[in-house]
Amino acid sequence: MTQPYPLPVFENRFAALPPAFHTRLQPTPLPAPYLVGFSEAAAATVGLSRPAHEDDSFLDVFAGNRIAPGSLPLSAVYSGHQFGVWAGQLGDGRAITLGDLPAADGQGRIELQLKGAGQTPYSRMGDGRAVLRSSIREFLCSEAMAALGIPTTRALTVIGSDQRVLRETPETAAVVTRMAPSFIRFGSFEHWYYNQRFDDLKILADTVLEQFYPQLLTEANPYQALLREVTRRTATLMAQWQAVGFMHGVMNTDNMSILGLTLDYGPFGFMEAFDARHICNHTDSQGRYSYQMQPRIGQWNCFALGQAMLPLIGSVEQTEAALADYEAIFQARHDALLHAKLGLNTRQPDDDQLIQALFAILQANHVDFTLFFRRLGDLRIGNPEQDEPLRDLILDRPAFDAWAAQYRQRLRAEDSDDEARRLAMQAVNPKYVLRNYLAQVAIDKAQQKDFSEVARLQQILRHPFDEQPEFDRYADLPPDWASHLEVSCSS
Ligand code: AMP
Ligand code: MG
Repeated sequence: MTQPYPLPVFENRFAALPPAFHTRLQPTPLPAPYLVGFSEAAAATVGLSRPAHEDDSFLDVFAGNRIAPGSLPLSAVYSGHQFGVWAGQLGDGRAITLGDLPAADGQGRIELQLKGAGQTPYSRMGDGRAVLRSSIREFLCSEAMAALGIPTTRALTVIGSDQRVLRETPETAAVVTRMAPSFIRFGSFEHWYYNQRFDDLKILADTVLEQFYPQLLTEANPYQALLREVTRRTATLMAQWQAVGFMHGVMNTDNMSILGLTLDYGPFGFMEAFDARHICNHTDSQGRYSYQMQPRIGQWNCFALGQAMLPLIGSVEQTEAALADYEAIFQARHDALLHAKLGLNTRQPDDDQLIQALFAILQANHVDFTLFFRRLGDLRIGNPEQDEPLRDLILDRPAFDAWAAQYRQRLRAEDSDDEARRLAMQAVNPKYVLRNYLAQVAIDKAQQKDFSEVARLQQILRHPFDEQPEFDRYADLPPDWASHLEVSCSS
């Protein structure tokens, strides 16, 4: 007999907020659950271990079929702007927070939330479920982003069931357990502001300050300091997304984390053939959330948060002052990340021109974003003959050769060392990202109850900067069939 799974003992800080902030409820049971994916790395952050194969108690807790000790399951209310338009009340329509556990590193507590655990008072027309397809995508991408060093919610596990769920076609249900110190959104603040419940707005802001930003409590105006810090984190996050080619797809204010985490994985994508106008969410016909728009939308969302915090901050001037640094912070972070991607150690006056010329070539030739920067690290200053793998990615060879000559000159000017630069560039330019087609292959297999590819992808993406030569083909250009892949917004 193996030992039964040691169930964690939860608390639930969010439950201590006034009743208007949430609804206490039970998850809807998920029939005959099975394990689809499990992240050891995420589990380790709260001291959980992989369940034994024959153990049902882990499955039952994270399918929503059994309430763990201390857990006070609840769904939170929030509102938000969707596609730039005020959408009114939204809320956790299918997410149920079980509670929080102490972080294994001793730094605070981590909330665990079931996504797809059944209807809530905030489900509106939805069925409260999530499909296996979108659950695997959220699971893999959360963990991949964490491994890339980008702030994100984490994912502990995906649990599937044969229960049918109707989307464009019939699919099956799954539950992802995601984890974060908090899932509070910009839209959580907007909710109280637009309902003119300024007392509740203050309770929310005070809670966020006390639990997540205690260092700001001694500032002259802690609410202004909070907005300034969230603005800073959001600008930094946008720079990180741009630098790795991540596109979120649905940057509504209800999907923006008050902790500056990547939150709510839906029709996201990683840039492949470079196109700054690329839209990864095919229902976003205007391209509001295209790659090139993300930094500006991040700023727009901070302004929406600023509007909601205005009654706490006190004046328009102070609110504007808190928001004022967004652009400078984004530019500085983005610039630093691009310098690192290019292996440049110093700043030179012509660098902007060099970088812009490169992006013009990437755009004109639809060059694979991840492969290009990875291979650029192999460039040898004195050996243009060795550029072939890099040149192979680009149709307009003369344009590339002219740019490469300029780049070599720039590298010589700072006495760049080929080998040191290669190592430094490999540490910032991932070899492996979650390309849509890779996720799709794992999903297709999982729909046939073969979860091996989910596990393999997760393992590879755990070390995105390592060569892992045995998995070379996972770094290849997408196959032809993948060009027809459309990521549905339905989930
Ligand atoms: P999203 O665009 O995924 O961030 O979702 C926007 C809102 O719709 C949130 O309030 C979600 O909880 C809700 N929602 C999305 N899908 C469902 C569903 N299947 N059932 C209930 N609510 C949902
Ligand atoms: Mg959402």
